[in-house]
Amino acid sequence: MVIQSIFIFIFGLIIGSFLTLYTYRSPRTISVKKGRSKCDRCGKKISWFDNIPLISYLLLKGKCRYCGNKISLRYPLIEFSTGILFAGIYYFYINCATILQGGTFEGNPFCAWTDLLGLWILPYLLLVSTVLVAIFVIDLEHQIIPDNLVFLLFVVNIMALILFRVDNLYEILFVSFAASLFFLMLHLVTKGRGMGLGDVKLVLALSPIFTWQVTITWIFLSFVIGAILGLILISLKRASFGKHIAFGPFLIFSFFIALFWGESLSRYIIPYMP
Ligand SMILES: [Zn+2]
Repeated sequence: MVIQSIFIFIFGLIIGSFLTLYTYRSPRTISVKKGRSKCDRCGKKISWFDNIPLISYLLLKGKCRYCGNKISLRYPLIEFSTGILFAGIYYFYINCATILQGGTFEGNPFCAWTDLLGLWILPYLLLVSTVLVAIFVIDLEHQIIPDNLVFLLFVVNIMALILFRVDNLYEILFVSFAASLFFLMLHLVTKGRGMGLGDVKLVLALSPIFTWQVTITWIFLSFVIGAILGLILISLKRASFGKHIAFGPFLIFSFFIALFWGESLSRYIIPYMP
């Protein structure tokens, strides 16, 4: 199991390495297929042995081999985060599989999906996570949530819903529309300064994974974390009131908390929950 976890972690590093490239090139409309990356300063192509996720960064001590130009921290950060996320998903899968064997099923969203999908939960959630890391980085750096990525999430989640949760289809779709309607209202009331339309679509694409209780918990968490971080940034004079801070990263960060611990958290956040 340890070996499998390490394997999944390394797989995450490799996907993360692709994401550093994708999230850099896609908003600048450069093709991902367009050759190897170059150093920003000396323009030397980065050879394969200097392009090993995380390890090359550590070996080169964060500097270009040829000119000593500092390599941005975004590369090791995105790679490492994706690796940890993948390993985390695998860890929860093993945990849920054990819980489900014991028969004491606690209704946590991750285990609920593991119950329905079995081993297929891994490709499903690894795909969703890959897309979410891409949206996280692009929204953070460019304040855009690309439509094609949100649409991909929407299609994958609706497919999963139709194939595996068709009994609750109408209820879940109703909750998803209600949740995104709430964001659409915020968007209209704040005249687009608070929420972008991208956030509205992201909520619509992601809520089908959750029950209504977890959906409320997820959105509540994203506001709490957003408010706390916003106040910290303002007090550090890194941001000011009225200045736009991308909300997508908060939605995505809270999404994973809700996915792993949403059921227990919702008992605190919605105390009268059945
Ligand atoms: Zn260089």
